[in-house]
Amino acid sequence: MIIMKSDATKAQIDAVVQDIENHGLRADVSQGDFRTIIGLIGDERKISFDHLAMLPGVKEARMVETPYKLISREYARLAGESEHRVIKVGNVEIGGDKLVFIAGPCAVESKQQLFKIAEGVKKAGADVLRGGIFKPRTSVHSFQGLGGSSEEDAVEALEWFREAGDKFEMPVVTEVRGESQIDLIAKYVDIIQIGARNMYDQDLLVKTARTGKPILYKRHFGAGIEEFLSFAEYMVAEDNKDIILCERGILPLGKGRSYTRYTLDLSAVPVMQKETFLPVIVDPSHAAGRRDLIFNMSCASIAAGACGLIVEVHHNPAEALVDGQQQITPDEFAKLVTACRSIHQAIGNRTNGG
Ligand code: PEP
Ligand code: MN
Repeated sequence: MIIMKSDATKAQIDAVVQDIENHGLRADVSQGDFRTIIGLIGDERKISFDHLAMLPGVKEARMVETPYKLISREYARLAGESEHRVIKVGNVEIGGDKLVFIAGPCAVESKQQLFKIAEGVKKAGADVLRGGIFKPRTSVHSFQGLGGSSEEDAVEALEWFREAGDKFEMPVVTEVRGESQIDLIAKYVDIIQIGARNMYDQDLLVKTARTGKPILYKRHFGAGIEEFLSFAEYMVAEDNKDIILCERGILPLGKGRSYTRYTLDLSAVPVMQKETFLPVIVDPSHAAGRRDLIFNMSCASIAAGACGLIVEVHHNPAEALVDGQQQITPDEFAKLVTACRSIHQAIGNRTNGG
């Protein structure tokens, strides 16, 4: 990380960037109100920090120990930028003063199903509509989402999805499961989701980030927090800082029956909010895997400092083609929204407690 002097000229900043690039690295320039910070992207062994410290206009050049720095609050603080990024999508602010509720079916099943649920969640207080079109499934014999049947079905489902979002005035988010789907999905949606199973796919992260769209990025169920944040850095290194981090549960421990699908790592929420300037949301649906726990785990997530939730909602969970056991009805969702809002009011924004 290079901290420029407060009176460094543009020519000096450009010269430092050029020097970094001449060494085969990339530079991330953060121009704050008071000074400019330049982050190195790439293999830092290629350049000497003593050399950088000698360049005109440079106040300090130092190594950052954490494997993620571009997303760190320290980096934002040094650059004089906001330590809490607010991601604007249409009229919705993610990470702002209000909680954000993302809701909708696990999978888009039909136009009628999608519109019914979209109407229900909107009435209940949802801000953003979710719906899977390319579903990651364990078994090849299961319903793969409408995107799994043919290109025509994928396009049709994406068109309904866009239409539902526009009709009920909600931005829309769907998951990209592979690189070949990026361009198509980017044409229709406002936010692109990278699911837990693809958390480690560097090429998918980089190419999705290059669309410039906000990304809802889920933690893998076996990933440590440092690993998750390190991989998030791949997207920010592409100059896309609109990354929403999502905690969705890690693998349960021990022998015997697992009472939940995953273990919601609640403490990861305030930890990540403190480590990075990115907003953190929680997915209680995939974490719990059972509808009777969604209300409590949602309340707990907001109490832990989450900026919002992504919840699976279906008008008829018993008939859902995917994840019926964890989907709640629009009425149940409405109760959850009310409870979460009062908890949020009681505790204030993000981790303001410390
Ligand atoms: C989803 O949100 O549809 C999903 C598959 O979640 P995850 O990637 O967290 O399993
Ligand atoms: Mn699901």
